[in-house]
Amino acid sequence: MVQTKNKPARKGFIYDLQRFAIHDGPGIRTLVYMKGCPLKCLWCSSPQTQKSKLEIMHNEINCKKCGRCIDLCPVHVIAISDDDDEIIIDRELCTSCGQCVEICPNQALKLIGYHITFEELFQEVNKDSPFYRRSNGGVTVGGGEPTMQLDFVTAFLKRCKQVYINTAIETCGYVKWDGMEDLLKYVDLVYIDIKHMDPTVHKELTGVSNELILENAKKIAAIKLMIIRIPVVSVCNDSDDNTTATARFAFDLGENLKRIDLLPYHKFGTQTYSRIGMEYKLPDVEPPSDDHMIRLKEIVESFGVKAQIGG
Ligand code: SF4
Ligand code: SF4
Repeated sequence: MVQTKNKPARKGFIYDLQRFAIHDGPGIRTLVYMKGCPLKCLWCSSPQTQKSKLEIMHNEINCKKCGRCIDLCPVHVIAISDDDDEIIIDRELCTSCGQCVEICPNQALKLIGYHITFEELFQEVNKDSPFYRRSNGGVTVGGGEPTMQLDFVTAFLKRCKQVYINTAIETCGYVKWDGMEDLLKYVDLVYIDIKHMDPTVHKELTGVSNELILENAKKIAAIKLMIIRIPVVSVCNDSDDNTTATARFAFDLGENLKRIDLLPYHKFGTQTYSRIGMEYKLPDVEPPSDDHMIRLKEIVESFGVKAQIGG
């Protein structure tokens, strides 16, 4: 697919597609990862989807420090550390021209993110429609945050529904309601993250308060099937009190809430941070124990709300 620097009209900006996924909705699914997210969760396992712009990714393992990219870069933003051990890229000044990607002999550099029309994206996912039909599967749009590109995602999911593909979205819920009702007409299932019930702590963990998210969760549950996801992260949101408050909130959402998925924190994706010039803020946090996850599940279930560990 062709990468372009300026977003053409009617194109969406996506990070990647993943085919034959068996989580994130029923059956066999294609996952569409949009690029751009309004939250900056400390534990984010896909930081490469956070920014709404092309980014240069450098894989230290592949890099042989040959220096070709340093000599070529037209804006001179690539350098090597004094001990010749590390390639340093000033990403603020990088123009995402892609020339270093082309010249690198070791595939150590990559531009991440590309633009695509909703019809092109539909044609891609529709190649797997035989698998969707056989498995009652479909398409799930996540990210990043799909509602940041509301017009594009609405057009894409409307197209999917024209051929009866099952559709789901994964949202952080931090979106103005305008336009959401139109999007939800073409969505069968909504996954929404509830990361903390305390607005102040939520802001410390994600960069934004949770009022808008909780308000949207209520509005969505009034009209659509919904699954709440809680990323369970030690010292951040894994207390009994927070789980109790979330379960109480979920109970009040009514019958459209199918269940709460408790997702144990993991360290997948932490290597990506250094590859895109970001710092990982939770290097010392370990995954929660099985016993702790079972305990939190029991708390949720004590409110009469279904729960499962994992997504
Ligand atoms: S993408 Fe272009 S501007 Fe950015 S580091 Fe590579 S060569 Fe330099
Ligand atoms: S061209 Fe590739 S292998 Fe050579 S220094 Fe640059 S990133 Fe490393």
